[in-house]
Amino acid sequence: MAYTEPAYAKLNLTLDILGRRDDGYHDMRMVMQSIDLQDLVSVSLQEEPGLTLTTNLPYLPRDGSNIAIKAATQFFRDTGLPLPGLSIDIQKNIPVCAGMAGGSSDGAAVLRLLRQLCLPELPQGQLEETGGRVGSDIPYCVRGGTALAEGRGEILTSLPPLPPCWIAVCKPPCSVSTPELFAQVRVKRLRCHPDTAGMLEALSSGDLDGIAHRLYNVFEDVLPRRYAQVFEIKAALLNLGAMAASMTGSGPTVFGLFPEREPAAQAVQILSEKFPAAFLCRPTPSCFPPHP
Ligand code: ATP
Repeated sequence: MAYTEPAYAKLNLTLDILGRRDDGYHDMRMVMQSIDLQDLVSVSLQEEPGLTLTTNLPYLPRDGSNIAIKAATQFFRDTGLPLPGLSIDIQKNIPVCAGMAGGSSDGAAVLRLLRQLCLPELPQGQLEETGGRVGSDIPYCVRGGTALAEGRGEILTSLPPLPPCWIAVCKPPCSVSTPELFAQVRVKRLRCHPDTAGMLEALSSGDLDGIAHRLYNVFEDVLPRRYAQVFEIKAALLNLGAMAASMTGSGPTVFGLFPEREPAAQAVQILSEKFPAAFLCRPTPSCFPPHP
């Protein structure tokens, strides 16, 4: 029998880089939001030992380099449970290398499924810690919803949900190298930073206007000129009535917030004529009901 979970894409409502650490990572402060653009991840126990992976996307790795396999391996390492025969299937809808944490979200869905299947009493915090050993975005993806992510991304604080709204999401047909972008950042030279405190306040008071006006991603300020399509999409979203628009993660995906469905749907329709990877989305709540 296969057990299936949605793996939601994430957007950065804010992304700030506070400094570079001695271990080579950067200290981040990010307000994250999951949206209903989703992969579907299934796991099923098999009699044959070993881990196998199938997916609808032919160029996705199917060996131990797939984040879903890494997550499953880490789960059994951390819990000490014997590794059973396990097959994982990923139906991929989230664009790859898009700044939407698609791979991390698949890994996180595998962790949630394995907990449900093998160790339901495992506290959420421990599952998130296991995720953090696999990748910086995975603890957030395990939890989902609206959250502040600090440190490498593993220090999480759940936040009040984004008020109901519509989100037009569009990925141009290019991919940005995250290490290259980090290499462009000189933290002391960053002139502008997101107003994270103001964003938290706006979320607390359910002020969609205040949230929209505080969308900010410092990576946009160091994005090389060859990624002009990012700014083209951002300008188009604003022209099409978005309250505000921003790049997510290390890009190149851009999203715009709309209070109503109709203009958001129209923006997606218009953008999709030039950029086929355009999606009409809504925010999603945390994947977890409150858990010890
Ligand atoms: P982030 O927002 O966390 O920086 P991303 O959305 O930019 O992530 P992903 O789509 O997660 O990037 O994929 C990044 C790389 O990970 C790709 O090179 C891809 O081949 C590899 N990868 C491994 N496993 C997966 C997976 N399950 N889904 C997507 N990509 C995967």
